[in-house]
Amino acid sequence: MAPVTFERTDATSRRRDRPLQASAKRLSRPPRPGAVDFAVVLAGLGLGASVALALTAETWSELTATGGIAMFIGNLTGLAGTYLALVMILLVSRIPVVERTLGQDRLLAWHRRLAPWPISLIVAHAVFLTIGYAQSAHTGVLHELGTFVSHFPGMLVALIGFGILVVIAVLSIYSVRRRLKRETWWAIHLGMYLAFALAFAHEVVLGPSFVNHPLTQVVWSAAWAATAGVVLTYRFGLPIYRSLRYRLRVAELREEADGITSIILEGRNLDRLAISGGQFFEWRFLKRGLWWQAHPYTLSARPRPPYMRLTVKSVGDHSRALSRLQPGTKVLVEGPYGAFTAHARRHQRAALLTNGIGVTTVRSLLEDLPKRSQPVVVWRVASEAEAALADEVRQLVSHLGGKFHLLAGKREDYPLQKVVGLVPDLRTRDLYVSGSESFVKDVVDLLYHQGVAREAIRSEVYAL
Ligand SMILES: Cc1cc2nc3c(=O)[nH]c(=O)nc-3n(C[C@H](O)[C@H](O)[C@H](O)COP(=O)(O)OP(=O)(O)OC[C@H]3O[C@@H](n4cnc5c(N)ncnc54)[C@H](O)[C@@H]3O)c2cc1C
Repeated sequence: MAPVTFERTDATSRRRDRPLQASAKRLSRPPRPGAVDFAVVLAGLGLGASVALALTAETWSELTATGGIAMFIGNLTGLAGTYLALVMILLVSRIPVVERTLGQDRLLAWHRRLAPWPISLIVAHAVFLTIGYAQSAHTGVLHELGTFVSHFPGMLVALIGFGILVVIAVLSIYSVRRRLKRETWWAIHLGMYLAFALAFAHEVVLGPSFVNHPLTQVVWSAAWAATAGVVLTYRFGLPIYRSLRYRLRVAELREEADGITSIILEGRNLDRLAISGGQFFEWRFLKRGLWWQAHPYTLSARPRPPYMRLTVKSVGDHSRALSRLQPGTKVLVEGPYGAFTAHARRHQRAALLTNGIGVTTVRSLLEDLPKRSQPVVVWRVASEAEAALADEVRQLVSHLGGKFHLLAGKREDYPLQKVVGLVPDLRTRDLYVSGSESFVKDVVDLLYHQGVAREAIRSEVYAL
């Protein structure tokens, strides 16, 4: 095999006023904030409609009857809770336009912030309805639960779904979740889909907003069917389609630095892959012990069809196993994802601040920046021996007329004030910050503190 080069070559940089050109470059489509704003308004209207459905479902006499208030609260919390569950699922359903506008890290943060609401509302729904029905039948709560299961259609299945939901909710509490292996927690967490699917039937068959209201039944069912369709399409269908289309295999492994390996993949149709520098894929290597887990890694250079490259630092079992991959190993991909791209530019000039292996986003993003961006790149790394890809970064920065600062050494030697202080005219540049969670958070806080506008900062944390 001819050596694959990801360095700048004369052939790829003939036009000095253009960003470095990879062959047949196709950028990902730009973000569409308008579409996302529209979706947010739609989601708000949907919540209003769900609450209105519950408010109008009960008559005054039903409300004032024994157990009426508890039943009303149970219905209201049930409708609002399941509607918010639908929004929670959509946030992580990988809709491409939403992903590239907001970025997966922000979507996940919203998903996590929203999650306690639907779960608490659904728990309240179960508790209040059981109490309400028990009061109305002048019986005990446990007896009423037995009646639900034996006499109400769809209730046994819904109760199983509810049990799954409660177990997953407990496992998702941070102090519990951090004791589990990430992959284990992830696999269990997918059970949420099953929980909502099991609970669906009892809603439309028994809910007072749906019984004898065929139109609301149809609209509600259509909303859930559409959500299931979106999940199946974007979380499963599209990745399968893309993996079949690109047919990626490991071509070569290169040790770049201590514990850092580049994996070069060979595939088909990569000239048609629309991707921006700074974006990442979820990678699934079809090898014993690895096939069942997908991990995110950024492309460390724009594709050079038929090749593309990721560069991985060994930090745990998955990343360590990648340094022992055999050429020929098949690879499935999900993505590309991420909003850490040149599309986020607001200013002419840019600065890129990173630490450790966060350099992979910087390296590929540099290929998309125009010459006038004159990027200042500041890279803090533990030692020169870990500064993988430094020559490539240096070469790209010099091509763009920028400045490269490699800060190799202890953190104490290079406090964040010093890192940020190396960027002149902070407030007139786009600021891209990537790397470890603490580095990104602290740098972003410092930038805000120094008066940099929120819209000028784009960040990518190497942990989800
Ligand atoms: C958007 C993004 C882009 C990334 N790009 C690169 C890259 O180009 N090169 C690179 O070396 N690393 C990259 N990472 C980090 C890489 O995904 C993790 O280092 C890797 O998944 C660790 O898995 P492990 O089993 O080896 O280690 P573990 O022992 O499982 O974990 C080590 C650390 O990585 C975190 N982690 C583990 N699994 C994941 C996961 N699936 N998603 C997110 N964080 C995880 C853990 O919270 C922990 O802090 C990126 C992460 C993200 C979120």
